Amino acid sequence: MDPKLHKEIHGCLDGAKEETANLLQRLIRIRSYSGREKEIVEFILDTMQYYGFDDQYSDALGNAVGRIGDGPVTILYDAHIDTVQVTDEDSWVYPPFEGRIVDGTIYGRGAVDEKSAMAGFLTAGKILKALFQDGGLPFSLYVVGSVMEEDCDGYPLRHLIENEGLRPDYVLLGEPTDLKVYRGQRGRMELQITATGKSAHGAHNRQGINAIYKMNPIVRAVEKLDRALPAVAPLGRGSITVSDIRSRGPSLCSVPDRCRIHIDRRLTVGETRETALAQLEEIVQRNGGDAAVTIPEYSGTSWKGTGFVQEAYFPTWIMEANHPLVLAGLESARLVLGKKTKSGFWSFSTNGVATAGRHHLPTIGFAPGKEELAHSTREEILLSDLFKASEFYALFPFVLTAK
Ligand SMILES: [Zn+2]
Repeated sequence: MDPKLHKEIHGCLDGAKEETANLLQRLIRIRSYSGREKEIVEFILDTMQYYGFDDQYSDALGNAVGRIGDGPVTILYDAHIDTVQVTDEDSWVYPPFEGRIVDGTIYGRGAVDEKSAMAGFLTAGKILKALFQDGGLPFSLYVVGSVMEEDCDGYPLRHLIENEGLRPDYVLLGEPTDLKVYRGQRGRMELQITATGKSAHGAHNRQGINAIYKMNPIVRAVEKLDRALPAVAPLGRGSITVSDIRSRGPSLCSVPDRCRIHIDRRLTVGETRETALAQLEEIVQRNGGDAAVTIPEYSGTSWKGTGFVQEAYFPTWIMEANHPLVLAGLESARLVLGKKTKSGFWSFSTNGVATAGRHHLPTIGFAPGKEELAHSTREEILLSDLFKASEFYALFPFVLTAK
């Protein structure tokens, strides 16, 4: 990367610190629960326009999409702008929707997950437009504020790729990485097993077939399977958890004719929809064979009124350590942090399940914030980390497209 340009970007960022912190505060102050992101989308689009982005619009689902430059290499920056809810406001040290700054740290819902990345993207965009007023950027950078990620990870970017025809060459996610370069995650899926029996009066229980009793050995087999799942480098073990059980019968004084368990399955390297399904089919076969294994569907409606349905399967993905995108991420981090950094993996799921998992588009992540603080009452970001991430976002496209 051209050292003169790096210096210019660094200088611009120095002058934009207060504004970047301010932007993050304003993003935190707008409540944006999943499916209710209209106000924050409008704020982001207004900001993009004010900063001179080349294009900005909300797509049919309701994602905020902006573009800078029209060079041949297409890069997509994604930060989901929905957050999980605040249900325990009293447990927060500072009010969750105030964005209070105390001793160089900003607090609030979404600070970590992941409005900081959006504030950084917007600042980076502003700097790129200021430095390249006459065009000439070697890339087209799309900045996306995706919606409904907390409800259905991946879907907002699936929508962009499959329904809006935006197929970037590279993707960068703004999920928290604590300023490391992340390159994959375990996948996940949900499954259900339904056992069917025959109802009868509790006083004549032997005339019925108890669906709960049919499910009992299946539950124990699932528990045993969890302990047998292998650890596979570099993502570790998958897991399987029975997360819910419910039964149905004519009354509480009857033999139930139906019992259903809900299963949370985390998928490591080599585990797919098919292998996970086959394991459960086998358990069912070993235990009578007449229970049904199914994958439930997620259905939602966005703030624009667009409905969608998706099978609850979110594939594992992983990028090779020496992939050019990973190397460009590590080099950009070195330039910004002044030292070598490591690559790593998320424990939770991200929109990468769509870009890398389903569509095999090279994907990495870089952002401030500790993953374990996401969804907690302690969401906080060091402003100095926010500024470093903003610089990364401005430099990275040049490092990636350098000849
Ligand atoms: Zn997130």
